[in-house]
Amino acid sequence: MKTLPESLWIKNPQAILADGDAGGGLVVRDGVIAELVPSGQAPVTAYDTVFDAHDHVVIPGLINTHHHFYQTLTRAWGPAADAELFPWLQNLYPLWARLTPEALDAAVRVALAELLLSGCTTAADHHYVFPAGLDEAIDIEVAAVRDFGMRATLTRGSMTLGEDDGGLPPQSTVQSLDVVLADSERLIETYHERGDGAVIQIALAPCSPFSVTREAMQESALLAARHGVRLHTHLAETLDEEEFCLDRFGLRPLDYLESVGWLGPQTWLGHGIHFTDAEIAQLGAAGTAVAHCATSNMRLASGIARVLELEAAGVPVGLGVDGSASNDGSNMILEARQALYLQRLRYGADVPVRRALGWATAGSAGVLGRSDIGTIRVGAQADLACFTTNALRFSGSHDPLAALLLCGADRADHVMVGGRWRVVDGAIEGGLDLDELIARHTRSAKELVGGSPIRQFA
Ligand code: ZN
Repeated sequence: MKTLPESLWIKNPQAILADGDAGGGLVVRDGVIAELVPSGQAPVTAYDTVFDAHDHVVIPGLINTHHHFYQTLTRAWGPAADAELFPWLQNLYPLWARLTPEALDAAVRVALAELLLSGCTTAADHHYVFPAGLDEAIDIEVAAVRDFGMRATLTRGSMTLGEDDGGLPPQSTVQSLDVVLADSERLIETYHERGDGAVIQIALAPCSPFSVTREAMQESALLAARHGVRLHTHLAETLDEEEFCLDRFGLRPLDYLESVGWLGPQTWLGHGIHFTDAEIAQLGAAGTAVAHCATSNMRLASGIARVLELEAAGVPVGLGVDGSASNDGSNMILEARQALYLQRLRYGADVPVRRALGWATAGSAGVLGRSDIGTIRVGAQADLACFTTNALRFSGSHDPLAALLLCGADRADHVMVGGRWRVVDGAIEGGLDLDELIARHTRSAKELVGGSPIRQFA
């Protein structure tokens, strides 16, 4: 089933997470969901082929809302293995400053492969490292996403505030605002797709309050508004960041965000942990979204996002695996499990499993400003993740949907994007040689770490 069938009945799934009765499965036609088939019935719509799903738990393709693909090159790196965000960053910046096009290409493909195999069909990436020679970083990402047949929101990130001017990153990693804005505009005009079924979308993403000038925030917001694209940044991730904002701007992070023209429905924030009650209400009223990154927040001991309160206030919330130097993997189904458990620690054991699956699907779609993905309903894109529950870890389990998270599903068996199978029997379609990719990626990772001496921050 390598090609795009005209019309396919995904028949009688073991379980399905759909908007409505789809016990009999669904029909996919021309890349979209044409019919939900009620239990015990056959499709009304004509179909050419059948995929027997009686062994499969079918859910909407998972959507990742925050990542830094390039960081797969610096996973579990000793000097940053046991540190909080600021020293972690200060240790890693000098390595990232040596990123090359070849290394980035391998890193992006490793991240996409991991995401896809974990049931992810749409990924957002926040790329903000542009050392000399890596001007075409986002172009490299676009090519890889297309090769994998996934969807992506690729953000043109930026750092414009270096150490010399009171920022955190070394001066060698920052760019001039003119260069950032010109490249942002080029990328929007070249790649940004609008409307249902978009494969590549571009957003603008100055990195964080401590690595970007106020002017860069303001100008990026104006440029995004002119082109109708979304805005993304890290905010309220740590108390160090809060202190930085109070010192430098005399404002808490959210007040700073508002002061630079970012507080609105066009914006989604990575992390969003340290908000007051009043700030949560303010975010909800503005419709500003949050990418909850449970694993990263635990790994760096950043704090626990107040997800249920954010949602109650009207804030769209989705999930992000975050960069692979703070996770250190790109597994979306395991991320949903982590988010479930972290939120249970905050709110109690009655946070439902299906709510966590909702964050990873419809919630994440809302965070990326999309209504055509993230749900199984008629008219939605046929982006699906199908898991089997016949492995050892599921033996003895009862509710198949709950088992995905409670038993720790970590790999999808079949994944479809826009009606096309991209993973079949647990393997990526299209002849990807994973062993070759791992070898190439490993070489690049060693080269990155093996260069000039590293300043180490405690
Ligand atoms: Zn991040």
